Amino acid sequence: MRKNINNDKIKKRIGDKMIEQNKRGLLIVISAPSGTGKSTITSELLKTNNRYFSISTTTREKRSNDIEGVTYNFVSKEEFLKRIDEDYFIEYTSYAGNYYGTPKNIIEEKLSSGIDVFLEIEVEGAKNIKKIYPEAILIFILPPSIQELINRLQKRGTDDFEKIYKRLNKAYDEIKEINNYEYVIVNNDLTKSISDIESIITSHKCLVKNINKIKLDIEKKDLENYLKGC
Ligand code: 5GP
Repeated sequence: MRKNINNDKIKKRIGDKMIEQNKRGLLIVISAPSGTGKSTITSELLKTNNRYFSISTTTREKRSNDIEGVTYNFVSKEEFLKRIDEDYFIEYTSYAGNYYGTPKNIIEEKLSSGIDVFLEIEVEGAKNIKKIYPEAILIFILPPSIQELINRLQKRGTDDFEKIYKRLNKAYDEIKEINNYEYVIVNNDLTKSISDIESIITSHKCLVKNINKIKLDIEKKDLENYLKGC
């Protein structure tokens, strides 16, 4: 006679979740030449809960779409140099004539409370972060073409010719550094770029090393004992 296994009888000892996700958040570093569209991408990514965008400090001039305390914290060069002395930054750099830095404390606080942290920083900063946090996920976003990058920088209308020239030069230098990154996305289509980054995040969440524990409903020996009794 065929035996049936009555599943109700196998009491759940530990709980019904097979895995316990790592309590630590992911650190996601996104770099891209200026004008590639990374701010639009990150603002879309941040619509999901449990994510935090690290607000950098900068000495550059505010653009019309910048909001103090949201896109950046804007400070004078003197104030920036003072903060370097006070060890306020986890990393900082000088980019196209301005200083940019990532504040130190908040990153660790967010990661250890399980929140995924996004840094939108240039290549030197990304390299420095990887030294401090080897588990950081480094993503580089490319424009569809250099011509398109020029169009976008001009259309933005915030920078004069000299500034655009500096940013384009910098873009070439940055693209050369792409081998330091783990992932590359060509931003042809915003929706696809976002979904590609979501896939990268999901795949990291599924890594065995990012899972704390596998929790089985019932010990093997208990299951064997039960099955013997069927
Ligand atoms: P933008 O002036 O276009 O906002 O930024 C210029 C560059 O500086 C971008 O590549 C941006 O990602 C980078 N950046 C912004 N904040 C930081 C930061 O805190 N650290 C570093 N290393 N780069 C930053």
